[in-house]
Amino acid sequence: MTEPIDRRTFLAQAGAVVGVGAGARSLRRKPLVRHVPRKLSQAIRGPVFRRGAPGFAEAALVYNERFDAVAPLAVARPFDTRDVQAAVQWGVARGVSLRARSGGHSYAGYSTLADGIVLDLRKLNSIAVDRAAGTATVGAGAQLIDVYTALAAHGATIPAGSCPSVGISGVTLGGGMGLAGRAFGLTTDHVVGVQIVTPAGWIRNVDATSDPDLFWALRGGGGGNFGVVTRFTFRLRPLPPSAAYFFVSWPWASAGEALDAWLRSAPHANEAMTSIFHLNAGGGTSAEVTGQYLGSSGDLTALLKPLTAVPGANLSTGQEAYLPLQNRWAGCSSISQAACHTVGSAPGGTLQRASFDAKSDYLRKALAPGGLKVLTQALETRASGPGSGAILFDSYGGAINRVAPDATAFVHRDVLCAMQYLSYNGDDAWLADTWSKMRPYVCGQAYQNYIDASLPHWQRAYYGANYPRLVATREHFDPDHYFKFAQGIGA
Ligand SMILES: Cc1cc2nc3c(=O)[nH]c(=O)nc-3n(C[C@H](O)[C@H](O)[C@H](O)COP(=O)(O)OP(=O)(O)OC[C@H]3O[C@@H](n4cnc5c(N)ncnc54)[C@H](O)[C@@H]3O)c2cc1C
Repeated sequence: MTEPIDRRTFLAQAGAVVGVGAGARSLRRKPLVRHVPRKLSQAIRGPVFRRGAPGFAEAALVYNERFDAVAPLAVARPFDTRDVQAAVQWGVARGVSLRARSGGHSYAGYSTLADGIVLDLRKLNSIAVDRAAGTATVGAGAQLIDVYTALAAHGATIPAGSCPSVGISGVTLGGGMGLAGRAFGLTTDHVVGVQIVTPAGWIRNVDATSDPDLFWALRGGGGGNFGVVTRFTFRLRPLPPSAAYFFVSWPWASAGEALDAWLRSAPHANEAMTSIFHLNAGGGTSAEVTGQYLGSSGDLTALLKPLTAVPGANLSTGQEAYLPLQNRWAGCSSISQAACHTVGSAPGGTLQRASFDAKSDYLRKALAPGGLKVLTQALETRASGPGSGAILFDSYGGAINRVAPDATAFVHRDVLCAMQYLSYNGDDAWLADTWSKMRPYVCGQAYQNYIDASLPHWQRAYYGANYPRLVATREHFDPDHYFKFAQGIGA
């Protein structure tokens, strides 16, 4: 077992005495903090908003309005890694549950809880680039728009999702798929080091040689497990000078045929191209593809032939510098970087929260005609119901699928695409019904970042054959299962 790097500093700070031995036993041995304050606000320097106190109501909110009624005992905003360490030590010693929160976008609301404390990591948002090493160290509370912007200033980027206010921690720990995915791979595939505070109260710097099992588990094993990550180090990609983008839409009568054409072409297309197929319902139905190509828009007519051959296709394309294009995907082309955050999640944020429920699937083969029909009929049903619904398909293949399923904890490496079923503003029955009818057509896996509290057999669906190793890693680093939640490893 590697000795935590900050042992000496910690001993000086906390007046602690501890032995560092080998194996799981030693991980149970906590640093002996002489005095555990009664209140968390006495243990950390960052602000603590107690339930009902001024500022609490806003501090408690996560992105999904469905969880607005969940009121934690308190929301704490640690200043730095030391504060996170102190909070974890305090929580373990006092027997109070903690949940980490980065961007607050967990589909199932797992970064909040009613009977414990939220560690909101928004103050750990520094982004530092080491040009010589070709890496960036990113604080665990940074949001994606800030990561893209800061890295672009250094002529660099990492692949990640398009929602600007998703937190770097959640997206990375569970995978991280976006419009540069087929070209570059997942966010998690770019992690070369992680700093984490474990339940034993240590700050551990984890990489391929130091705690390699934990390093493996943190790349795809899902947020909320093993401890609280305080920062990631990413290997950087050179910033593409520009990228092409495209939209293809069809009349609804062609929706099934268009989806079939997309499933047969998008996962096998030129790797520089990543696209998302959308089936939408709400005040009507629509079928369209959005995509990004790390090349010239002049190539797109030829590359998109399989899609434009479907009757009624309407193609529009463009070319833009890379960062402005990420702002376009974020819906922020005409607003400032400060405004491009969810209201309440950062100063000046103007983007609205949402109320939704979701489920997911993966496809290993194109859909049989019956599957296409289930989906188009589901959208037609939803078009006349309450709220709105959508089924989205993220194309995989390329760099994502070149990584072996057991090389990291992210197992979904042999699929054509991820599917997500989204229901906005009510009608969860539609979601459950559509998902049930699709069972004969899908492969049984689900994306851990589209985490779904009602998913049966989620262990196999999210982690497949990697699950036993994840459980063993959790038992080693969190033997008393302090970081426990409904779909946590080993729950
Ligand atoms: C609008 C929207 C758009 C999205 N777009 C994409 C996309 O394009 N691509 C994609 O791959 N995914 C996407 N997602 C899914 C997203 O990746 C997951 O919801 C992710 O978990 C969100 O991360 P977060 O940090 O914002 O969430 P949080 O709710 O803060 O955290 C998610 C989970 O991770 C845990 N966690 C948070 N921080 C830490 C930490 N520092 N250490 C340990 N555990 C931690 C939390 O406790 C929770 O269990 C999207 C989600 C939404 C709501």
